[in-house]
Amino acid sequence: MANRERVLTRRTMLGTIAILPLAFTARAHGASCADPATLSAAQKSMRKSLGFKSPAPDVAKRCATCAFFTGKAADCGPCALLSGGVVPANGLCDSWAKKG
Ligand code: SF4
Repeated sequence: MANRERVLTRRTMLGTIAILPLAFTARAHGASCADPATLSAAQKSMRKSLGFKSPAPDVAKRCATCAFFTGKAADCGPCALLSGGVVPANGLCDSWAKKG
C-alpha cells in the first residue's frame, strides 16, 4: 500500500469517527446545505484537506453517488466523512467511494 493510500485510509477512519455525531445531528435536524462561509475553521480545513469542490467535474462521480453520502434529498445531505455535516449532492472530494 502506497504511503498516500495509507494516509487516506487512516484519515478516512479518523474522519468518520470524528464526525459521525455531526452527521447524526444534521440528520436529526433536517439536512440543509450550509453556506460555505458559515463553516467552522475545522470544517473548512477538513474540506480543504480532502480536496472538496462543488460542483463535481463528472456528474457520475459526485456526492450523491458516494457511499459516504447519507442524504435522501436530491440537492444536499449529510456526509459521514466530512466534518462539514451536510454537503451539496453535486460536490466531490478525494475520498469519493462508489455507493454499493
Ligand atoms: S465525495 Fe467526499 S464529500 Fe462527497 S459524500 Fe463522498 S466523502 Fe463526502
